Amino acid sequence: MTTTRPLSSTAERLHDAGLRSTAPRRAALEALAPGGHLDASEIFEAVKSELPGTSLQAVYGVLGALTEAGLVRKIEPGGSAARYEARVGDNHHHMVCRECGRIEDVQCAIGAAPCLVPSEDHGFTVEAAEVTFLGTCPDCRAADAAGAAETDDAGRASGA
Ligand SMILES: [Zn+2]
Ligand SMILES: [Zn+2]
Repeated sequence: MTTTRPLSSTAERLHDAGLRSTAPRRAALEALAPGGHLDASEIFEAVKSELPGTSLQAVYGVLGALTEAGLVRKIEPGGSAARYEARVGDNHHHMVCRECGRIEDVQCAIGAAPCLVPSEDHGFTVEAAEVTFLGTCPDCRAADAAGAAETDDAGRASGA
């Protein structure tokens, strides 16, 4: 699912967030603009295609600044490697396939969601609830079903 919303220019968004508009920052934001959850090396590839002199280290620096400024959200759903997304500020959640790592957005719970109110706050001020739904995506489930039918022997061996 992609969300299309009218965005002011990338340079303006950086400015509004109190950041200087630099070419690597603009390129990283633009790489994330179409939606999805990219890891640093995917963003690096996109930035590098525009700015060949860019280093991965520089991209990490850019992502840190963008995350700090609230233009980018960093997620590590289910303990996966850090991924970045441009969809910020809506406290949405993620569904993660345990097999292939596919990540989908899930709207924040609408209406009463008692599980998002901690039964004990340990004295914390709660600002966000991060929920990760772990499971198996349809593609992997189909592949598993096909694989199970074909490799019955292998299944028995590992079960022994
Ligand atoms: Zn999958
Ligand atoms: Zn997301």
